[in-house]
Amino acid sequence: MNRVRPSSPRLANIEPYDPKYLPAENLLSANENPHDIDRPMRQAIIKAIRRVPFNRYPDPLANELRGLIAETNGLEPNQVLMGNGGDELLLDVALAWGGNGRKMLNLPPTFSVYETNAVLSGTEVVSIPRKPDFSIDEDAVLERVGEGDIDYVMVASPNNPSGGLAEEEFLLKLLDSTDALVMVDEAYFEFSRRTMRPYLASHQNLLILRTFSKAFSLAGVRVGYLLGDPMVIREIIKVRQPYSVDVISQIVARIIYENRSRFEKEMLSIIDERERMYEAMKTLPSVTVFPSEANYLLFKVKRADELWQYLYDQGILVRNLSHSPGLEQCLRVSVGLEAQNDAFLTALRSFILSKDAE
Ligand SMILES: *Cc1c(COP(=O)(O)O)cnc(C)c1O
Repeated sequence: MNRVRPSSPRLANIEPYDPKYLPAENLLSANENPHDIDRPMRQAIIKAIRRVPFNRYPDPLANELRGLIAETNGLEPNQVLMGNGGDELLLDVALAWGGNGRKMLNLPPTFSVYETNAVLSGTEVVSIPRKPDFSIDEDAVLERVGEGDIDYVMVASPNNPSGGLAEEEFLLKLLDSTDALVMVDEAYFEFSRRTMRPYLASHQNLLILRTFSKAFSLAGVRVGYLLGDPMVIREIIKVRQPYSVDVISQIVARIIYENRSRFEKEMLSIIDERERMYEAMKTLPSVTVFPSEANYLLFKVKRADELWQYLYDQGILVRNLSHSPGLEQCLRVSVGLEAQNDAFLTALRSFILSKDAE
């Protein structure tokens, strides 16, 4: 067989992304909404899709959806950009603000995609690790940014996987102290109910990411969006795949967004469930659970690998992060339906109490 030359050296240390999805009765590993969309919404989607011309290219910028999101957020359409999930937009930001000779400031442990995208785009990664409780080392970040050579900063708020918010006061200080592009990833905004959006008017360097994958039950459809300054959005459009949001996704997301008030009750119940789980886990010996403003909880145990397997054997899939830097012995559980959360808590309790007794 004729051989091919090696791929780009940038790929040498990158592992293909693996969500570690395995079949299980209780899927609590990917921070999805445990409820699928309701029947009336599904019917409305099917009806709308029947009329779609499949032979025509979609509107590249999904202007109908874009206009709707702009209006809801008190912005102009040119301040909104739709993407093929938030993940596409994260890569676009790296392509537009990173590249050779440029630097991204990252705050690990955090969403691993930020670093991967930086490496893929040839961007140098500057890391300021979080404190042991996963809060941001604010002074170190402000000091590093003060050196003036950072091109963009990634801040997940709430942070994935640890669940805590970045302080608003800190984010404002950061935005004021630099002309680097500051991306605040609000993928879990609908659960945290906290946003930097009001500061878009005063800060050209603020960019916000949202997604339909978590609160709006659309992880399978792939739609996310950016809110930012028109100039920033225009630069990102230059690197974007023109037709990344296909016509079906545009229709589905529009109908879901028009009906978003229907998700309100579910979101409140997920928040209640999160608090119930947090309180229950807090009482267990040798479990450290971190407070969360999202729809998942990160927790630290003594034998994470063993516990992960024990849970999986009981039909419960959680995310094993214990082999990621800074997350030793940590697992992350997504908030599911009440019965699923009960199954998780029961299994966790029996594992911990049996191991403690040994
Ligand atoms: C899930 C998630 C996203 C985006 O997910 P998509 O499904 O690609 O929209 C972005 N950032 C964080 C921190 C996430 O957890």
